[in-house]
Amino acid sequence: MNIRTRQVPLPLQKLQAVIPRLQPGFQNYAALCYEERNRLRGFEGEKEIDYYLNLLANRCTILQDVYLKVNGKSFQLDSVLATRRACYLIESKNYSKRVLLDTVLKQCILSNGKVETGVNYPITQAENHKIQFENFLAKHNLPDVPVYFFVALSDPGTIIEVKGDDQEIVNKVTHGEQLPKMILDIDSKLEDRFQDYKLGKTILRECGEFDFDILNKYGVKTTDIMPGVQCPKCGHIGMARTYAYWECQSCKCRSKNAHVKAVSDYLLLINPYITNKECRRFLRITSKSLATRILKECNLIYQKQHKRWYQHPSHTIT
Ligand SMILES: [Zn+2]
Repeated sequence: MNIRTRQVPLPLQKLQAVIPRLQPGFQNYAALCYEERNRLRGFEGEKEIDYYLNLLANRCTILQDVYLKVNGKSFQLDSVLATRRACYLIESKNYSKRVLLDTVLKQCILSNGKVETGVNYPITQAENHKIQFENFLAKHNLPDVPVYFFVALSDPGTIIEVKGDDQEIVNKVTHGEQLPKMILDIDSKLEDRFQDYKLGKTILRECGEFDFDILNKYGVKTTDIMPGVQCPKCGHIGMARTYAYWECQSCKCRSKNAHVKAVSDYLLLINPYITNKECRRFLRITSKSLATRILKECNLIYQKQHKRWYQHPSHTIT
């Protein structure tokens, strides 16, 4: 059973929301677009791996995008799969055409045919995550759970080359489609020890959401974020409110609910709450009662004490 499904990570959500709201001349515009592309590529790769892991969903407990904290240090696991016998940690990698893994120097070199780039050695990264995960289990009185890890390549076209010990790589690095069989092979040699669902629930209870101030990293200030309702068809910012509709000034497309995305962008990029005045500024409308109606429609909760609206923690409006 899959008890935690992957959502678009918050830093990527923020990048996707902020980029159309910046002037193309913004100082770090190209760097923001580059980071968005990279994060999207990683996210899509993780979803590819999810497809294969979900083939085992009826036999075990799966958690995607697990973010845990132990001994004051947080760590992120792309997927955790628990059977009655062991836990399997999966690191997804969306590498380019060719990857060279050097088991002696612990180096990872990516090549697209023209340029070579060195990146973190994925096995060391996965080994460290395994140690952190074992610390987590020990802290929750589950020290006897065997833990295995895999580095899964999401692009079936990636060619793996090894320099050094092939055997070290062959059992740890694989393409996504091989994962179910590799997990079952290990599992079949072990004995039942615990209830995977209970273990999964313990992990789920401790899971947080990974986030960081990505806008600050690129020097995006609130004043750089262009207000306005975005056209769902052409992306133009600044749809005009006509009777019961939003109308795009650029492509003349009409929308009844384009404001939902704008309010969501505000909550994601500017503040976790919104006032009626801020809503009017950001949506470029003048009517106070229209703003109230819109905020209600977005299922926001009114906080009388501070005269502002906020999202219910378990509710997203996108
Ligand atoms: Zn438009």
